[in-house]
Amino acid sequence: MLTAELKAKWRKPIYAFFDPEPTIEYRKDNRKCVVFRCSAKNCKKREILRYLDTKDAGSTGNMRNHVKTCWGEEILVEADKAKDVDEGRKVTGSYRKNGSITASFEKSKNAQSKASFSYRQHTKTETRMRPFDIVKDRGFVCLMKTGRPHYYLPHPTTVARDVKQVFAKTRKRVADMLQNNDSDINCCIDTWTSPNHKAYAAVTVHFEHEGKLMSLLLDFIEIAKVRTCFYP
Ligand SMILES: [Zn+2]
Repeated sequence: MLTAELKAKWRKPIYAFFDPEPTIEYRKDNRKCVVFRCSAKNCKKREILRYLDTKDAGSTGNMRNHVKTCWGEEILVEADKAKDVDEGRKVTGSYRKNGSITASFEKSKNAQSKASFSYRQHTKTETRMRPFDIVKDRGFVCLMKTGRPHYYLPHPTTVARDVKQVFAKTRKRVADMLQNNDSDINCCIDTWTSPNHKAYAAVTVHFEHEGKLMSLLLDFIEIAKVRTCFYP
């Protein structure tokens, strides 16, 4: 049986990472120990034993080591800021629910600085690339600013203007190159269907420029849609 007296000793925030009801069991050579169970969802070790007949029966060293590898050092640091196990449980609970340690500290009086983006690294799904022209998309902004909240992101109109400028300059250069070239100009069409069943055609040009073979893409068209010709 667990005595209230024993339980009262476990007030440190570190206990927040374990089930609130540890058990007293007799393990190895029938020695009496307290079995703490890690409350992380995917914990592989699960049990942390504390033998009561040793000098360091009150030590939380092996618990801390386990939490570091199981939950991550960063959340342990956050939990250590909590004043006791109850406040610590808010941190671990919120982390399990949202996967975010800042969520629990946003409203906390103890928060030293304002939390804006999580320190937790993105998962594979969250990191999946997003189209460049949606720079104001919430997910994209979060992806870019996480870990570096002051990262500069341009306004969508700035990106659109830049793309147009780059396109205009490139088109002029390609036109000049083709018009002032002495070699033969060979045009090709390459057509194919993408895995999502859309048909495309690419128009390429191949020629000799200053002794070197040049290959350029002139146009890229989705077939069965309005054709936009960039190089009339
Ligand atoms: Zn664990």
